[in-house]
Amino acid sequence: MVMMPGTVHIFLFHRVSPVRNAMWDPVDPLLFDRMIGAISRRFRVVQLERLLQGEYALQHEKRDIAAIVFDDGYQDNLEYALPVLKRHNCAASLYVITGCLTNGIPTWNYEVDYLIANTRKKEAFADNEIYKGPLSFNTHAERIRFSTSFKYDLKQIGNTLRLQIINELRTQLDDVAPPVNPMLNWDGARELYNEGIYIGSHTVTHPVLIRLTDEEIRRELSDSRAEIRANLGYDPVTVAYPMGYYNDRVKRIAFEAGYSSGLTVKEVKHSLGNDRLAITRIQLFNESWLKFQLRSRGYIHTIKRIIKR
Ligand SMILES: [Zn+2]
Repeated sequence: MVMMPGTVHIFLFHRVSPVRNAMWDPVDPLLFDRMIGAISRRFRVVQLERLLQGEYALQHEKRDIAAIVFDDGYQDNLEYALPVLKRHNCAASLYVITGCLTNGIPTWNYEVDYLIANTRKKEAFADNEIYKGPLSFNTHAERIRFSTSFKYDLKQIGNTLRLQIINELRTQLDDVAPPVNPMLNWDGARELYNEGIYIGSHTVTHPVLIRLTDEEIRRELSDSRAEIRANLGYDPVTVAYPMGYYNDRVKRIAFEAGYSSGLTVKEVKHSLGNDRLAITRIQLFNESWLKFQLRSRGYIHTIKRIIKR
């Protein structure tokens, strides 16, 4: 019987790139290097899936335990994150949106940001169940605000309506050329896997799972699992819920689909005795060193809790 540590700090990243993006800024590679350096000094960094399977002998480890994970599956993870992880000798896991890898398309969230950031038009006209009439986004600040609230609204509705509304936006903003695809393909995912990065599921299309029917959830979870098996040769044990949304129904279907762990987003370390289908992760951003320090130590969560009281 291997002794398990009590808690694990799981640090979540998305993009790592030197190219700045006003809508959703990737972590700069120099900052990423500094963060990974700090994390690997402060913690014993392990691979999440191996930790959950009790594969580490950690009984003599004095440091706290941490894991590093990525969501979505961006090409820049291979280009910029992997060399840093190797230099610091850090294991990691990546949860991929299998439909994006297979079809060579970005996430719907990315497409919305891209359309709004790059159109020369100042407004679009909506005619759907959620929006009717003009949607305006003239200045830079308005575009950021619009995209944020538009994506928020799209997270509240089912798949079909969401795809319909995005399609309408795409048709209206026809002056924008399709984005250069920022996602990995399966060769890239295989390269990361061969470098020791565990690849798990982040669904097929990145929907908000709690808005779907049981059957739709099942398809998102089973089909992504099958695609990973077909491309990498194993059944992934972990699913990262898109944007962190889950409930008891999602957890049950995830378990039935063969996943033993499910990952969400919450700014607290995870207690290993707790629910394996609701594992909490601390998301890190391209922000000041002070914010990184506060966030990685769980202080931002504490501050928010105090403010809410
Ligand atoms: Zn995601």
